[in-house]
Amino acid sequence: MKVRIGTRKSILALKQTELVANAIRGAFPGTETEALGRETSGDKNLSSPLSAFGGKGAFVTEFEDALLEGKIDMAVHSAKDLPAKIADGLCIAAVLKREDARDVIVWRKGAEKSEKSVIGTSSPRRALQIRGKLGCTVRTLRGNVGTRLTKLEAGEFDGIILAAAGLKRLGILSDGGGEIREKFDVEILGEDEFCPAGGQGIIAIECAQSNAEMRRILEKICDETAFIEFCTERKILALLGSGCHDPTAVFAKVRGGEITVSVVVEQNGKPHRITMRGQTADSGRIAEKIAAEAEKALAAEKTRVYLVGSGPGDDSLSTQKAVSLIKNADAVVYDALANPALLSYAKTGCSFFPVGKIPGKHSKTQDEINEILVDLAKSGKFRNIVRLKGGDPFVFGRGGEEAEHLSRNGIAYETVPGVTSAIAALECAGIPVTHRGESRSFCVITGHTADGSESFVKYAGIGGTLVFLMGVANIKKIADDLLSGGMDADTPAAIVENGTTARQRRTNGTISTIAQIALERNVSNPAVIAVGKTAAFDMRCGILPLSGRRICITGTRSFVQKVGAEIEGSGAAATLAPILRTELDERAFDTAFVGKHFDKNERSFRNVDWLVFTSSNGVRLAFRRMFALGIDIRALSRIQFCVVGSGTADALAEFGITADFVPKSGFTVAEMEKEFSDFVGGGKNIVALRAAEGSPLGNSGIKIEDIPIYTTKADKNALDSVSAGASSFDAVTFASSLGVKSFFGFIPPESFSENAKFICIGGKTRATLEQFVPREKIVTAGECTANGIARALFESL
Ligand code: SAH
Repeated sequence: MKVRIGTRKSILALKQTELVANAIRGAFPGTETEALGRETSGDKNLSSPLSAFGGKGAFVTEFEDALLEGKIDMAVHSAKDLPAKIADGLCIAAVLKREDARDVIVWRKGAEKSEKSVIGTSSPRRALQIRGKLGCTVRTLRGNVGTRLTKLEAGEFDGIILAAAGLKRLGILSDGGGEIREKFDVEILGEDEFCPAGGQGIIAIECAQSNAEMRRILEKICDETAFIEFCTERKILALLGSGCHDPTAVFAKVRGGEITVSVVVEQNGKPHRITMRGQTADSGRIAEKIAAEAEKALAAEKTRVYLVGSGPGDDSLSTQKAVSLIKNADAVVYDALANPALLSYAKTGCSFFPVGKIPGKHSKTQDEINEILVDLAKSGKFRNIVRLKGGDPFVFGRGGEEAEHLSRNGIAYETVPGVTSAIAALECAGIPVTHRGESRSFCVITGHTADGSESFVKYAGIGGTLVFLMGVANIKKIADDLLSGGMDADTPAAIVENGTTARQRRTNGTISTIAQIALERNVSNPAVIAVGKTAAFDMRCGILPLSGRRICITGTRSFVQKVGAEIEGSGAAATLAPILRTELDERAFDTAFVGKHFDKNERSFRNVDWLVFTSSNGVRLAFRRMFALGIDIRALSRIQFCVVGSGTADALAEFGITADFVPKSGFTVAEMEKEFSDFVGGGKNIVALRAAEGSPLGNSGIKIEDIPIYTTKADKNALDSVSAGASSFDAVTFASSLGVKSFFGFIPPESFSENAKFICIGGKTRATLEQFVPREKIVTAGECTANGIARALFESL
């Protein structure tokens, strides 16, 4: 019988094939073997990195066709070149006894072996581990062993990494000898120190599953121990879904009845090793366990924790980066200080973990917070974790401790600066921390010390503006110490509570009076204390129309931002309270609208002449979903659009569409419908996409297919952020009945001051508002838009 063996043509591959042939002839004397050499695409493309043209499979797949077509009986592979999955109908029927699995560095004689070395390898696994070991530079190197050694000799590299097995099979390396040592220094890297690739040193033989005769032959030459190691390593790689283009290393060693398994994965650019031991009979289970561990380590690798400064309180003073990170976050861990309204930027499904002081509840210790961050990062459930901290994370925010702890646990993090209250709270209350000729420096000091024994005497003479954070409880001691340190008793002092928010309050005095005044006015945290000449300044502008007015604007985020923009520059201290959040009902949209009307072949909507939108939120949610489904704007080209008012028309314009019908009079949905039905008459296909809470359409004689596509819900985080300041508002604005109900469901009407005004967008909202507050306190906007609300504010305050 003649066995046809497929092999690559390199010298090493031919050697390996010879070993297989010898084994077969040894087990079945008289059998003939024939090596059929073949050049693979992997061999032809020696200059580009392997990953560029198909990775592992590059040396294998071309043999698989030959096997399936019966042109060869078996194919010989280096086990480490095998892709995770081999072709259907084929199997690895045998492996030979494992050769030395270790890697070696072949050094140029006399080359420097340090972090300055340049090491050649094309394997990400070797690159990761050698960088971890030496901290050296790694350059790509490909080609067969001969070519690689020539490049080394030519001085392109100080050292190159090769497999010991290959060199031994070529006969140029042996333990303690071999001709390669004449020209080069050879450093053998122990498996414990430098983890080999799965399958390294193993020759695997593939044949057709249906070829019983070949399988019988191969079974006879198969090495039991190597086969268990091979299967264990492949199982782990398959579970991890890794190929040779990622740097994961896997090595199993069977000794007697025991198996030791190691995996090295990349964590933050460094090799991370996991090792497990157990009974050989248990190898399958051990493979699963170690793969799960490695999976966790890899998850931590993909996770990023962002230590984000949220700013001093007013959410429009948060950085764009903070907002975009919150939008992207899968989990947000936040303090009591951070403005909870910022959380409403988070996407649906984001998890929230409050760790700040919540009245009546045990607040988390710093150690507990550190642990929570690490646990979340390692859970593998959250890719982007935002740790939101008041002001700037490094100004008394203990952000540094969290960074150190994450670092110790191998978790990648980024710090994001925020506007610190130390400067901003004072500034919004009119106090500059420096001023030409008056204060040439400022010093930010903690007023809170662990055991209360710290003296503030030493700050008395340093000049400039002294800024104390966390100082309210200690204000008497601070003042006494500064006075006994020789500070002039008339030095101005000021306290700013809740700086930058609508609840901001400023208290003035001198260093000799401020502690008593603070007591009388019941000053409480969070507050910044300023001491120095500039503490007497008040640089607030008093001539703006809404100067000093505190306004709370409620609604959906996009709406409150619109009103916020309308009163920009008015001098008002506005709290933007996005207490409602909208959520698309994807099922309703996908089935009742897209499923029913979208024609996939024509790539456009069918049986829709008019689309009616009753809100800008509806427009945005619908378009975003449409785009997410891969439907582009051209699908709407034959449709006309009817909107309830100019705000909705503006939202439509954001997507490049001009509304065809905007009612001339009235702003309610019922008014729109009436005017619209007179305009279009009968016989048209009209579809309305509206809020589930809104009233149904189709009551004015014309037929309208009425599809509720989104819901609006109260956002507790945003309501929370408003409730504490309720008593200080001069006005609260409402844009919908639902907003009114959600608001007063959470905040009792008694919380507001006697003179507070309640501004509403229109008649329906007013009717609901009247259930909660006296009629004389209510102002109805002249126009049912954000601009209408802004105008009502200017007129009534
Ligand atoms: N990292 C924060 C400070 C944390 S320490 C920052 O950069 O702002 C907490 C202290 O900050 C509080 O005790 C208070 O002194 C101060 N603080 C924070 N927010 C404040 C605000 N809106 N108004 C006044 N003080 C504030």
